[in-house]
Amino acid sequence: MSLLITGAKTADGTTRDLFIANGVFRDPADAPGNVERIDADGLLALPGLVDLHTHLREPGFEDAETIGSGTEAAARGGYTCVHAMANTEPVTDTAEAADYVAALGARDGFAQVVPIGAVTKNLEGVELAELGMMARSKANVRVFSDDGRCVTDSLLMRRALSYVAAFNGVIAQHSQDPRLAGPGACCHESEISGRLGLPGWPTQAESVIIARDVQLAELANSRLHVCHVSSAESVDIIRWAKKRGIQVTAEATPHHLYLGTELVENYDTTFKVNPPLRTSEHIEAVREALADGTIDAVATDHAPHTPQDKDHPFDVALPGMLGLEQSLAVVIETMVKPGRLTWEGLVERMSYIPARIGQLTNQGRPIAIGEPANVVLVDPNATAVVDRGASKSRSRNNPYHGRTLPDPVITTIWAGRVTYSSPATSSSS
Ligand SMILES: [Zn+2]
Repeated sequence: MSLLITGAKTADGTTRDLFIANGVFRDPADAPGNVERIDADGLLALPGLVDLHTHLREPGFEDAETIGSGTEAAARGGYTCVHAMANTEPVTDTAEAADYVAALGARDGFAQVVPIGAVTKNLEGVELAELGMMARSKANVRVFSDDGRCVTDSLLMRRALSYVAAFNGVIAQHSQDPRLAGPGACCHESEISGRLGLPGWPTQAESVIIARDVQLAELANSRLHVCHVSSAESVDIIRWAKKRGIQVTAEATPHHLYLGTELVENYDTTFKVNPPLRTSEHIEAVREALADGTIDAVATDHAPHTPQDKDHPFDVALPGMLGLEQSLAVVIETMVKPGRLTWEGLVERMSYIPARIGQLTNQGRPIAIGEPANVVLVDPNATAVVDRGASKSRSRNNPYHGRTLPDPVITTIWAGRVTYSSPATSSSS
């Protein structure tokens, strides 16, 4: 299986041909005359995107998503690798469970599936899961998270951080103090939550946990990753911790970069997400932090839900929204177009850095001879109206439905194999 991509521009602005054979970039001079070609004139070739935070729902919740449908959505969005969150049924809290998810990924995936291991058994926050066994498993787990829930017990969090330091693992924390923002909290605490009569979720419920965790990471001399940063206070604390030399990384979701809390005004549960959508001052703080590197990476928190799980009163419906297919579009719209991020900066935050946080060696690599052929061809000028009906996901809780956004992804190639090709693409041999 070989392929010649002609005339593509890389993120640094140079134009070149890319020859792919056996899953690896080779010297274009070695391409045979009859090789299959993709004309990429006018397109950018970027390294395949890597997501640190994906809910694939399989095993256990296949009505909402499967590893097949979720990774097909990932390929549609330009991703060649996703980290699968542990809150499935059963929970990924043993080596066997992690190997099972990785095997399903190898069988059904349109992208590489890297299992995330739970920090605590059955996500109960009481007893550490088999972190070492998962790290030594075939799945080679390096990222651990109880996401959906916060590891609230300080001693347990300290022990988890200490434990994973031995194999350079990382604890990815869903920062939510359950006393300040309990299970019912569903709206940014503000004038809006008061007026709508929805339980408030103050930004400090996030930032107080981050303030604790960065100090525990320092104490344990270990790596902390902060999931879905949503507030200005959180950004300030992460900035302080980095200045101090603490090993902390952080992610921002596309929805916290783009969508405001006013969208919940008519109680549309599509816009219910945890942590909730915030006000413009917090959106601006998250954008600024992503631009200056305080927030290291973009991660989707892609969270598919069936209509049955969303079709409830706002305070009862499940939180979460889709993200994989429009993540790149939102980052282009909010960061690249306004000049806050170059294409090289985008590649850092959506490919190189997430792969490094996950300790992956075969993803997040430059487009160069000898490197794995993970690449996304991007039309920087294409736009389209988002149609949730056209989604590759099994679910339809797409918060961008009806908006005109960039529609950049033309072709996605994972390990030399075309995993997505836009209907408009022409390919010849
Ligand atoms: Zn979360």
